[in-house]
Amino acid sequence: MAFHAYAAKKAKAHLKPFDYEPKPLGEHDVEIAITHCGVCHSDVHLVDGDWGDHFPVVPGHEIIGTVVAGRKFKKSERVGVGWQCNSCGECEYCRAGEEVLCAANAATCQGNFGGFADLIRVNERFAFRIPDALPSETAAPLLCGGVTVYTPLRNFASAGSRVGVIGIGGLGHLALQFAKALGCEVTAFSRSVDKEREARRFGAAHFVTGAPRKGSLDLILNTAHAAPDMGVYLGALRPKGVFCQLGAAPDPLSVPAFALIVGSRTVTGSAIGSPAVIREMLEVAARHGVAAKTEGVPMREADAALDKTRKNAARYRMVLAN
Ligand code: NAP
Ligand code: ZN
Repeated sequence: MAFHAYAAKKAKAHLKPFDYEPKPLGEHDVEIAITHCGVCHSDVHLVDGDWGDHFPVVPGHEIIGTVVAGRKFKKSERVGVGWQCNSCGECEYCRAGEEVLCAANAATCQGNFGGFADLIRVNERFAFRIPDALPSETAAPLLCGGVTVYTPLRNFASAGSRVGVIGIGGLGHLALQFAKALGCEVTAFSRSVDKEREARRFGAAHFVTGAPRKGSLDLILNTAHAAPDMGVYLGALRPKGVFCQLGAAPDPLSVPAFALIVGSRTVTGSAIGSPAVIREMLEVAARHGVAAKTEGVPMREADAALDKTRKNAARYRMVLAN
């Protein structure tokens, strides 16, 4: 039995049809027939070889589909899978519900074949029931993009916090929605003037294309995959403010010492979210109507969809459908 997928054989190569024999279905695995898969900029990084040589790469880690086989879920049940597809299940982090920190964490499409495919098998602990209120196309991007912005908002913000979001792409437009849903006052920082109207609809109270105002924010989420001017953005934080890096910038962040010392500011990073947080995020999205603004295309157009994301032309998430 072969799974049908789309793969890049080497860095920056086009995605081409790729059939492979799946690993055997383990006792605790679930097999899912993929109906939808979002295109995250991490898929671009993988295909472009930004994160090393993992080829052939079958990208895709914002998956929604229906259960075909496995013990935990009913057949035909609708489930989602994000970036992480396994962990050891035994270490101090796994036992504390912080599976994302497990040293043995496995990625859905790095070292494994991901969601630009018709079928996938993952550990059942990393498949999540999708609430009925969430349509598959607009919910798929929540599985990676959504939880990646929800986690630091949950950790570093609360109602009334002044939150800045740099980069209004797949992650950024979901960050505006979640921050608004949590009762924050949200500022969007974008290089694309044409995004202002929609950014305000997503929840931004302020839309800034230039420099941020000094001492105006409690939390900044940087979703851009380029290193920002850290002096300027740290200066935009209020005392004890937090700058959280989410974009996987290849270049180092250059942090001026005084921008940290004065005002006791923090620079941190955050990776996706653990299963318990993914479940909570899906519930919050269902209650508050958080949904990706998507452009749906057939799975066979995976290569063109990836290129649109690469060129910052997606508004705001490409989603592939079988
Ligand atoms: P995306 O949809 O392409 O959006 C990125 C946005 O960043 C763009 O829409 C653009 O927004 C801005 N941008 C693009 N190029 C830029 C540049 N050179 N300088 C400044 N801003 C730029 O990407 P995404 O899917 O949201 O992913 C963003 C980053 O997060 C990627 O590096 C991805 O790998 C990473 N990521 C990290 C995690 C994690 O766990 N931490 C999870 C998922 C993704 P404007 O047009 O508004 O300027
Ligand atoms: Zn992703």
